[in-house]
Amino acid sequence: GNKIRNAKLVLLGDVGTGKSSLVLRFVKGQFVEFQESTIGAAFFSQTVAVNDETIKFEIWDTAGQERYHSLAPMYYRGAAAAVIVYDMTNAASFTRAKKWVQELQAQGSPNTIMALAGNKADLVETRQVSVEEAQTYAQENGLFFMETSAKTAINVNDIFYEIAKRLTRA
Ligand code: GDP
Ligand code: MG
Repeated sequence: GNKIRNAKLVLLGDVGTGKSSLVLRFVKGQFVEFQESTIGAAFFSQTVAVNDETIKFEIWDTAGQERYHSLAPMYYRGAAAAVIVYDMTNAASFTRAKKWVQELQAQGSPNTIMALAGNKADLVETRQVSVEEAQTYAQENGLFFMETSAKTAINVNDIFYEIAKRLTRA
């Protein structure tokens, strides 16, 4: 039969890494060069079919600004999945991503599936974070890793699909 599972998913990461753009790409198949900054958090939903199951993602796209930090636990607590986003052209955003991973490891639910997204993969000429560095970090910390581009759509559906697959196994 076709089982429907609701799955709360949160996107975390620095301002400007492309969290909202990844959601817009995944939910609406669109990209805008001048994506408005998120205030607080925004909610979206999208479904993914895996075998005979439907995963209905309830997506919380957070702002990323420090002044909203105290709200973050509301979004990641009880989340089935978290996508931690950095901008591969910005080393500081990778450092920030690692801080989010630490916070989730310390304060989050132990069974939250964590994905690391190195976004803006289309901007290879200004890369500051290597695939090897991110992959090694992800492996050591129990995350799965993909480089994505909300602009070209590379790996965007794939990262959500991979999460959905892991949820059906959970
Ligand atoms: P957020 O603050 O993490 O939600 O980031 P936004 O989604 O608002 O994106 C910040 C800026 O980066 C916007 O100008 C986007 O158009 C741009 N952006 C987002 N994703 C990509 C991407 O994959 N490639 C490129 N080249 N630009 C992107
Ligand atoms: Mg945003």
